Amino acid sequence: MDNRRFSWYIILAAFITLMSCAEEESKVAGPIKYETPIELKIFEEHFYSIYGGKRFTGSIYFANNINPYIGMCSYYYNYDGVYNTIRINPDYWYNISQYQKEQLMFHELAHCIYKLQHDTTIVTLRTYNNKMKCPKSIMYPILFDTCYNNYRTYYLEELRNKIKGT
Ligand SMILES: [Zn+2]
Repeated sequence: MDNRRFSWYIILAAFITLMSCAEEESKVAGPIKYETPIELKIFEEHFYSIYGGKRFTGSIYFANNINPYIGMCSYYYNYDGVYNTIRINPDYWYNISQYQKEQLMFHELAHCIYKLQHDTTIVTLRTYNNKMKCPKSIMYPILFDTCYNNYRTYYLEELRNKIKGT
């Protein structure tokens, strides 16, 4: 048996959840490469079409065992380098809108590809006839809908600026 297969892995995970955010370190067995389900792949490809650049090399898959989190990006460090996974909770996925799915997938991809951290800043966003207090970024740790639906173009651009800064 190859010893390296059973070496220690450190996992640093960043979470998005409906309730709160957490990070953890743990030792786990080597991850398996999963085929990305088409309904997630669509958003991954959309992310590349907007932000180009680096591609995600790990696994993206549905996982029930991340409750109560809705999505999770994990970094596994081993002797061969970094291996990432994005897990999406199907219990939530099938009950959120297309825009929220986009927000969730972009959030996790930005964690995993660009190592972006959470941003809990609240700002006032305006259109010509409307203003709202909203999260500053897709990297807000809680999924949000009204602000995203109203100011989606702003959020996509804000993420572009964050990615540029990495
Ligand atoms: Zn997150």
